[in-house]
Amino acid sequence: MRSPSYWNAPPPPEPETAALRLLLIEDNQSLAAGLAQALREKGFAVNHVTRGDHGLHAIQTDAPDLVILDLGLPDMDGLDVLRRLRAGNRRLPVLVLTARDTINEKVAGLDLGADDYLAKPFDMDELEARLRAMGRRLGSATTSVLTLGNLSLDIATRELSVDGRPVELSRREYALLKALMEQPGRVLTRDTLEGKLYAWGEEVASNALEVHIHHLRRKLGGDCIRTVRGVGYSLRQS
Ligand code: CA
Repeated sequence: MRSPSYWNAPPPPEPETAALRLLLIEDNQSLAAGLAQALREKGFAVNHVTRGDHGLHAIQTDAPDLVILDLGLPDMDGLDVLRRLRAGNRRLPVLVLTARDTINEKVAGLDLGADDYLAKPFDMDELEARLRAMGRRLGSATTSVLTLGNLSLDIATRELSVDGRPVELSRREYALLKALMEQPGRVLTRDTLEGKLYAWGEEVASNALEVHIHHLRRKLGGDCIRTVRGVGYSLRQS
């Protein structure tokens, strides 16, 4: 039984691509604001901090997919941020952004495990292309296909197939299904799923989760998404 109330509200508009969660560590507010907006328009979910220690904290708590790191930060050198980040997470892709476009710093950063560099000022399209490439490398470096019954979700390409047929997903449907497929059979709470769905700081409409679940059920067919009243949802083999 589902409540008819959500039919009154159209689902929120969304870009076609699934959102990579990107942490931007940059103390220049105007540069960061412009960059964050441009990246959101490209379909990234962006969290922005202005200090190195806040960046390291956000990496622990928010588990971003990618990091853009400025080297000149107010509280610590960006290369120290990179060193400490790498001590805890060897695989998280990091793109270093710096006005100090010198060979020595590039070599130092590469030794510490930066994946790529871009010198300011930079071209937005080039930044986006490099971030996409980093995201693809991340996907291909891990087990890239989640399967459950007739469902197969490739997390490198973000493609779903149902009974071997490709099925288009919006970025939020993808995020939701990925979370459910990572823990099949387990009930994920509304809070957990909403946290997966939305970029940091974005408003969450109260019925949005139900709307996305509804669309996902139509696309998956069967009854594989189970509603647990008052708690959340789980995924089972249909
Ligand atoms: Ca700076």
